[in-house]
Amino acid sequence: MANFNTHLTAGVIISSAVAGLGFYFQLYGLTTAVLCVMVGTLGSLLPDIDLDSSKPAKQGFFTLSLISSTLITIIYANRYQSGQLLLHSLLIWAIGFVIMRGATELFSRLTVHRGMVHSVPYMAVFALGVVYGAFYGLKLTAFVSWIFGMMLFIGAMVHLALDEIYSVNVYGLRLKKSAGTAMKFIEKDKLIWYAGLYSLIAVLCYKAPPYGDFVRAITKIARGMV
Ligand SMILES: [Zn+2]
Repeated sequence: MANFNTHLTAGVIISSAVAGLGFYFQLYGLTTAVLCVMVGTLGSLLPDIDLDSSKPAKQGFFTLSLISSTLITIIYANRYQSGQLLLHSLLIWAIGFVIMRGATELFSRLTVHRGMVHSVPYMAVFALGVVYGAFYGLKLTAFVSWIFGMMLFIGAMVHLALDEIYSVNVYGLRLKKSAGTAMKFIEKDKLIWYAGLYSLIAVLCYKAPPYGDFVRAITKIARGMV
């Protein structure tokens, strides 16, 4: 398993590259690009949220809570220009922080299902949660909401891939038991829980905000790159 700093570094680098690509292809402006980097970095740290944290990880997640609540506030402030903007922003920041802290605490306590967070479907649920939160909560456009969701998912996949690579690297060519367990889609002993996860994904996809613009933009970039 790669450590916290490795994940952070890789998260920043790859998120910047992906966000930069979207900016280069004029999908969004600079503010959105910067927010994309932050969301992606957040995603690259997320899978380890339920681990019994070492000290750097604990501090990291505290900072993470700070960053995400600030992030939510910036998005909110960008969107609304009301007379009570400052008060609202402060409130949102505080609530965001409390929720993030609560969520991290809750995750580290839910030891029964430990390990499930460190999986592809769980991260898909998180990413869809971002899409929903951005679209319905922060009232962003469906396009930007999907971009943020995608960034979180990419970051998370970078994390899982990195753990996977490390589990192979550390032991050389001889694959140890831990290899092949980072990038997981399912666990045999938790079938019911995973069935629940996949059902949730199905429901979230079915009810998701419109993704037409998002898909068109991604297809355009994909064509532009070949
Ligand atoms: Zn990990």
